[in-house]
Amino acid sequence: MTRRLSAQPFAKQITARATEIAARAIADARGTAPEIAVVIATSEPDSLLYVDRLLKQVSATGLVGRRVELGEAATEAEIFATLTSLSADQSVAGIILQSPLPSGVSREIVAAAIAPGKDIDGITLVNAERLADGTHDASLLPATAAAVMELLRAYEIPLQGRQAVVVGRSAVVGRPVAHLLELEGAHVEVAHSKTPDLGVVTRTAAVLVVAAGVRGLVRGEHVSPGTVVIDVGIHPSGDTIVGDVDAPSVEAQLGETGGLSPVPGGVGPMTSAILALHAAQAAERLVRRRA
Ligand code: NAP
Repeated sequence: MTRRLSAQPFAKQITARATEIAARAIADARGTAPEIAVVIATSEPDSLLYVDRLLKQVSATGLVGRRVELGEAATEAEIFATLTSLSADQSVAGIILQSPLPSGVSREIVAAAIAPGKDIDGITLVNAERLADGTHDASLLPATAAAVMELLRAYEIPLQGRQAVVVGRSAVVGRPVAHLLELEGAHVEVAHSKTPDLGVVTRTAAVLVVAAGVRGLVRGEHVSPGTVVIDVGIHPSGDTIVGDVDAPSVEAQLGETGGLSPVPGGVGPMTSAILALHAAQAAERLVRRRA
């Protein structure tokens, strides 16, 4: 049977570490918990559900989650002004800008209003450039990309000198994952929607990360036996979720020497744990700065 690269127990350990760091920061701030602001300009049910879970996770660490609802009609100027004000707010340690944004709003433009030190989901250009040149702060990485790397680290998957393929090149997942894999010494190839024959590229991978946003895109014929596959995709399916990987056919092809991260139970819970850790580290930074 193919090895399942589940987030647990590692995500739980990371959350416990986040709680410890947050408790220290709160004690240093004489009992006042720093806040983590989540800015929401959407009414998409899946997105709101994600925010609920995120805020629950933040309060479980002892920090205060601040829900900033702007509504789906929010303009670029309004979102920019809100992010500017949160960046200057001394009680706010970290800021998350929830996706999706209203149509016509540029993520890149509004993200520029987030103070880089409070950018705990790594969406600002400043933090993206630091990652590209390898001078990044790990607590300011895009959380999902960091979660992919954490799963690989937790299961001791070697990366140095190995062929890694990333399907997807978005600024939030594909690109940062490709940079991080490269920094670990992997030889990285990125496939995207214009890649002429996906299977030709993906079959070369020792490590394959799939973040295409297409349900079941990667099937058995796209992988080689022994490959480790990380499935980043999330697609609602009845009362559960499925990924970008067609798990039954891929597992049949990977065999006993391969590995696959499950959906649910893989990148998703690891991303939540990493965000909690980034939030706690931002709280610690804020309290030190104020001291
Ligand atoms: P995105 O912004 O839509 O980017 C998708 C990328 O996949 C693009 O680069 C696109 O190529 C590429 N792509 C699309 N169709 C393809 C195809 N047929 N073959 C090869 N490449 C293809 O999506 P994202 O934000 O990166 O998210 C990707 C997936 O991860 C989604 O399912 C999302 O729900 C999930 N996600 C999960 C988490 C988590 O915590 N688990 C967090 C964030 C996102 P082009 O650049 O050429 O268009």
